[in-house]
Amino acid sequence: MRRLILDGPGAVHWEGCDEPTAGPGQAMVRPLAVATCDLDVAVLHGVYPLTGPYPFGHEAVAEVTAIGDGVTTVTVGDRVIVPFQISCGACDPCRRGRTGNCDRHPPLSTYGLGPMGGLSWGGLLTDLALVPHADAMLVPLPDGLDPVVVASASDNIADAYRTVGPQLAAEPGAEVLVVAGEGGPASIGLYAAGLAVALGSSRVVYVDDAPERQAIASSLGAEVQDDPTRRKAGAFPITVNAGGDEAHLRCALNSTAFDGTCTSVAVFLADPALPMFQMYSRCCTLHTGRAHVRPHIPTVLDLVATGRFDPSVVTSDVVDWEDAVDALRSPPMKLVVRR
Ligand SMILES: [Zn+2]
Ligand SMILES: [Zn+2]
Repeated sequence: MRRLILDGPGAVHWEGCDEPTAGPGQAMVRPLAVATCDLDVAVLHGVYPLTGPYPFGHEAVAEVTAIGDGVTTVTVGDRVIVPFQISCGACDPCRRGRTGNCDRHPPLSTYGLGPMGGLSWGGLLTDLALVPHADAMLVPLPDGLDPVVVASASDNIADAYRTVGPQLAAEPGAEVLVVAGEGGPASIGLYAAGLAVALGSSRVVYVDDAPERQAIASSLGAEVQDDPTRRKAGAFPITVNAGGDEAHLRCALNSTAFDGTCTSVAVFLADPALPMFQMYSRCCTLHTGRAHVRPHIPTVLDLVATGRFDPSVVTSDVVDWEDAVDALRSPPMKLVVRR
């Protein structure tokens, strides 16, 4: 079998490796469609410091090829979403829905994120991957859904959902602001805007300077504005920062209404200056951190399967499996590799 290795920015190659075998509670899967995560794109462009070589890819729809003893929820031939985070489903954090902090494994255990996620899980741009807690982790793909369309449900779509889904459930119809811009997790910001529309927000404003992303946000039903580094874009009960500059985060925070919540999905390597006095005065909650994706995946699949949300408009390019190396040298915002 082969797997794809990331050597460094813009450099990947296929290598031969041994086939794993599925032990008790485990499943073997064959990835069918693998998407780049926003973090993968930053690593490939050399702007996020994850050091290679490591097995690459962590957003996938796959087919189950073998199951170990005791697996009951999936069987051979099933198509499944493979969450990027390794979670047991049974420990205290997992039972509370905090599946990104499963305490049965070392912190941050994931597929395809090199030394950050633990090298033992491999990547998902591979012929075969092992899923350690198959019943807890794998989510069946709804009938009729194209694996290419929901390849990012493993991570980025679910990450976007957590920024607006629970908030809109608590405050139906509330207005949503998404601030996006250079250096940020671009697809997550767009998915968040589209999901907010799908979930019934009465007004979704997407602020970004990039015309290509503005066009996608508009097609998802958001109202588009320029200038994500301005001080303030209004007053919204739900705000999302998907920009990589601290001015983007400050714009989102300054635009968070009294008692509102801002979720920042960007990874800041340096500490940004925050408008703490304004946040204090308005009782503003800032939430940041890795998403706990597994509990949100069935919800986002249902939104897609029922036609309320179309993530395919965010996808920049779809290439065949054999063309992955060429396509990853200089990847677009959201690449999907399929076979
Ligand atoms: Zn990711
Ligand atoms: Zn766990």
